[in-house]
Amino acid sequence: MSKIVFGVDIGGTTVKMGVFQADGTLIENWEIPTRKEEFGRYILVDVADSILTKIDELGYNKEDVIGVGVGAPGPVDASGTINKAVNLGWDRINIVEILSPLVQLPVKAGNDANVAALGEMWKGGGQGVPNMVAVTLGTGVGGGVIVEGKLVAGFAGGGGEIGHIRVEENETDFCGCGNQGCLEQYASATGIVRLAKKRLACDEAASMLREGELSAKSVWDAVKAGDTVAMEVAEKFGYYLGKGLASVASVVNPEVFVVGGGVSKAGDIIFEYVRPYFDKYVFEGCKDVKFALAKLGNDAGIYGAAKLVIEE
Ligand code: ZN
Repeated sequence: MSKIVFGVDIGGTTVKMGVFQADGTLIENWEIPTRKEEFGRYILVDVADSILTKIDELGYNKEDVIGVGVGAPGPVDASGTINKAVNLGWDRINIVEILSPLVQLPVKAGNDANVAALGEMWKGGGQGVPNMVAVTLGTGVGGGVIVEGKLVAGFAGGGGEIGHIRVEENETDFCGCGNQGCLEQYASATGIVRLAKKRLACDEAASMLREGELSAKSVWDAVKAGDTVAMEVAEKFGYYLGKGLASVASVVNPEVFVVGGGVSKAGDIIFEYVRPYFDKYVFEGCKDVKFALAKLGNDAGIYGAAKLVIEE
């Protein structure tokens, strides 16, 4: 039997898990609930149980398993220490030191957005591209920077936090991180809704957005229908995201930006709004960048987590 590897993506409500062949072929994926009670102390125990059960079920032995990769929602350093994962109730713990003895297998850990970027490079929208930046436009804005095929997690695991690049000097609302004017406040799904609300409050201009519930999807649907107010909102979104990504490009000079998350479901139309501002603000020498949609959706995390273990 060929060797297998596990990829685990820990989220606030569920833990997504996958078992792969070493070449990245998915054998099976499944989910278990994230038990957050008592400061999330059972989460890694549940993960370990689920992995051990699966190894038995599939008829493998421990020797057939390369290891377990884990993505978690917080900054994770090279040793596997995560410094606060508010969503899970974790303060500062070392994922590798806790999980490895439980499964008796090699374990590696990384930040969830970083790990998802690795997944997109391995089997998704950035396949075969060693210099790429992944951007996730979801409830927040996440990012992962890959240079020469290696994830840039940084000194304390805070690398690739694209959502917290400051793109606006005159912001009165606060970002979840405590700063003001972060990219996340304009380019996430919640950010787009915020921009739309602000625009609608300016005047009485007719717009589809005044009917029904406002969401990032309803804004992009209205843009596609030619709604001029929605197009103004998209223009703002494009300005902020284009400006933020221009800064990123000028530092790491990626070949591709792979854009995923709920907002990206609107499709290539988002790039029509981002590209002009990106081109305007980027350093000339870093201008030659492609924008591509992510391909793995919610599975990017398990793919990337598995890849984390295979890498070394
Ligand atoms: Zn922020």
